[in-house]
Amino acid sequence: MRTRTVDFDTVREQLAGRCFICELLAGNPEFPHHVVYEDDHAIAFLNRYPALYGYVLVAPREHREEVTGDFTRAEYLRLQALVHRVGEAIRRVVPTERLYVLSLGSRQGNRHVHWHLAPLPPGIPFDRQQLAALDTNVCLDLSDAELNELASKIRDAISASAEEPYPIDDQPRFEEP
Ligand SMILES: [Zn+2]
Repeated sequence: MRTRTVDFDTVREQLAGRCFICELLAGNPEFPHHVVYEDDHAIAFLNRYPALYGYVLVAPREHREEVTGDFTRAEYLRLQALVHRVGEAIRRVVPTERLYVLSLGSRQGNRHVHWHLAPLPPGIPFDRQQLAALDTNVCLDLSDAELNELASKIRDAISASAEEPYPIDDQPRFEEP
């Protein structure tokens, strides 16, 4: 697969302090993304700078910053239900040895909380897995057509999966006998 080098300092300069997720949600053409899922609460879209093929970001529509602190338990679990649903869709579409799920962000940029769903393909040596697979400025160079095709497959896989009622079970998993 072709790759390209991303200068994240330039990307940050172009952002000029704006929130890329809020700009995407507002439909700013400077921030085009391939959206794979949207509802009243959340959005999921392909990472514009994918270190791995099938790399999706999931975010709440509202601009919130603290990954746990800015959510009620129910709001948080609803988002995680979507992370699970999108993760399973990615695994159906892209060969995945291990699905990475993480939330990063910074007060100095990328403030809008989001979750990374990054599928590690099979056959990557151990020393290039985990954070080494993600912490890179070399990303896949996918054409718009290739991104469209990938987004459409993931979108279809999400649509094909039943939305499970939420909350599924808000009781403690292990109860005293
Ligand atoms: Zn935002």
